[in-house]
Amino acid sequence: AIILGLESSCDETAAAIVRSDRTILAHALAGQEDHHRAFGGVVPEIAARAHAELMAPLVQAALADAGMTLQDMDAIAATAGPGLIGGVMVGLVTAKALAMAADKPLIAVNHLEGHALSPRLVDADLAFPYLLLLVSGGHCQLLRVNGVGDYNRLATTIDDAVGEAFDKTAKILGLGFPGGPAVERAAANGNASAVPLPRPLKGADEPHFSFAGLKSAVLRAHETGKYRVEDIAASFQQAVVECLLDRLRYSVDRINPLPALVVAGGVAANGAIRAMLADFAAARGMRFVAPPLWLCTDNGAMIAWAGAERFAAGLTDGLDFVARPRWPLDPDAPAARGAGV
Ligand code: ATP
Ligand code: MG
Ligand code: FE
Repeated sequence: AIILGLESSCDETAAAIVRSDRTILAHALAGQEDHHRAFGGVVPEIAARAHAELMAPLVQAALADAGMTLQDMDAIAATAGPGLIGGVMVGLVTAKALAMAADKPLIAVNHLEGHALSPRLVDADLAFPYLLLLVSGGHCQLLRVNGVGDYNRLATTIDDAVGEAFDKTAKILGLGFPGGPAVERAAANGNASAVPLPRPLKGADEPHFSFAGLKSAVLRAHETGKYRVEDIAASFQQAVVECLLDRLRYSVDRINPLPALVVAGGVAANGAIRAMLADFAAARGMRFVAPPLWLCTDNGAMIAWAGAERFAAGLTDGLDFVARPRWPLDPDAPAARGAGV
């Protein structure tokens, strides 16, 4: 099957066309960094307006690149949540209009399922079940991926998402926006043991993650004026790596072995985190799968691919599907203490 996928849940507007044999036929994307940089973060109303301007031209560009028309699509998929609701509505309403005009089925995709299944787009050998560390701007979760639409959440953050911690650290250190890549670049020239920072929840007898204390410690360290920005960035990144490793170890020690460890979400672009995960997987006899960097951050191909997986499973949606600002992958997961997402 051939699926058009639209993404607009945060600050990337994207449209891609993917075939179920894993061929990416087209992949158009427009970032909005320039719209938001002056504000130091994504402004929801500005994002929604930009998505509204960019989405239709990107769909046209994707179809032109693939040398196809809407009639060649088997279904139209779009992120239907979770995310900034104004942006989500732009993508979902566009997909509904296209589906109606071309008389094709609509597939409402959970953005997190897009991230979760993205490694399967580039790795035909990655079978269910697998262990997934989903690390993004809004989430930090450890999930058992049993199949399409079938997830068990083993752990989540009780406060900040890991990407959020990178973004806030970048803001504190004056490294600009978006923060993750900037922190990683600065860290490359820093000493990871120069600044004493906490390891929140390390050794705790619970599976969850926490990053808010780390961000506050970065602020305090920076305010002393004693440390180089590069050293704070490197020490912060090292603390994140150690926290993720400790929490991962806690859960893996307590579940039945899984054949593969998979990382997805924008923070999966981080080299130090990828290296730690590769080592951990090797030590546990697990295969390690990480998507290429462009597939880690938000894009249309992962939504088109999730659409292809859902289409193959016979899962399509009605034109009355309502955009969801919140949409957990595992609605049965027990809530974490605190304000876990
Ligand atoms: P969600 O998927 O939870 O709705 P999102 O879509 O905003 O959130 P993604 O696009 O998946 O998140 O990821 C963006 C996040 O990834 C940002 O917080 C960004 O700072 C972070 N990120 C990107 N590259 C890196 C990197 N090299 N190192 C660390 N973090 C990074
Ligand atoms: Mg973004
Ligand atoms: Fe995302």
